Amino acid sequence: MKVLVAVKRVIDYNVKVRVKPDHSDVDLNNVKMAINPFCEIAVEEAVRLKEKGVASEIIVVSIGPKEAQEQIRTALALGADRGLLIQTEEMPSSLGVAKLLKAVVDEEQPQLIILGKQSIDTDNNQTGQMLAALTDYPQGAFASSVEVEGDHINVAREIDGGLQTLKLSLPAVITADLRLNEPRYASLPNIMKAKRKPLDTKTPADLGVTLSNTLKTVKVEPPAERQAGIKVASVEELVDKLKNEAKVI
Ligand code: AMP
Repeated sequence: MKVLVAVKRVIDYNVKVRVKPDHSDVDLNNVKMAINPFCEIAVEEAVRLKEKGVASEIIVVSIGPKEAQEQIRTALALGADRGLLIQTEEMPSSLGVAKLLKAVVDEEQPQLIILGKQSIDTDNNQTGQMLAALTDYPQGAFASSVEVEGDHINVAREIDGGLQTLKLSLPAVITADLRLNEPRYASLPNIMKAKRKPLDTKTPADLGVTLSNTLKTVKVEPPAERQAGIKVASVEELVDKLKNEAKVI
């Protein structure tokens, strides 16, 4: 079974995000970038399926600038077999990404497509659902466990108040939630091996996709600065402040 995994290059989650002085976007200059954490979970799941003998090949695809090759190489070091960069300088909207992934699905015909549930930079949580609609494949979003059984896949989803288990026929689209697995670290020998794994580059035009962005970022603002706390000398003073200043009791 061929598995396609979509990985996005985003700001590393440990980095404090800075906004450009003109508020047009987030400042990406000299900022450490990484694989979106939910995409890392998606890669790990694909690798575990391969280790179980369920998956035969794992293809990793990323849409973004040339530098997104770094994130594809990381996924290759984690166990994916080959990579595809769809190179574009402008980051497309979720719908644009879903259209490009649909074109890759048409070419590669994977039985299972795994995405992260959400990108931590834009927090869209849309691409997997849009890809399922475009391909007309069943979807299991927010998967916390998956099990392939013959020509279908059982997906446990985290929903409000519990777990929902779905039985999807393959091919299917699933999106990885936080508790699906704990991604491994790439070992040094695997990082070296990943350098020799195939990594193809295409443009949206090669795939016959024209990107028209229907979204415009109007303004980006950092969250309000938190005010510094104060120290109180006694419980009585604390109660007095909560009652008379904060007025919360
Ligand atoms: P989003 O809908 O933007 O929150 O993203 C959900 C998931 O879609 C991500 O975790 C990725 O698996 C995939 N995705 C979104 N944007 C890209 C991209 N530029 N390249 C590859 N995969 C992407």
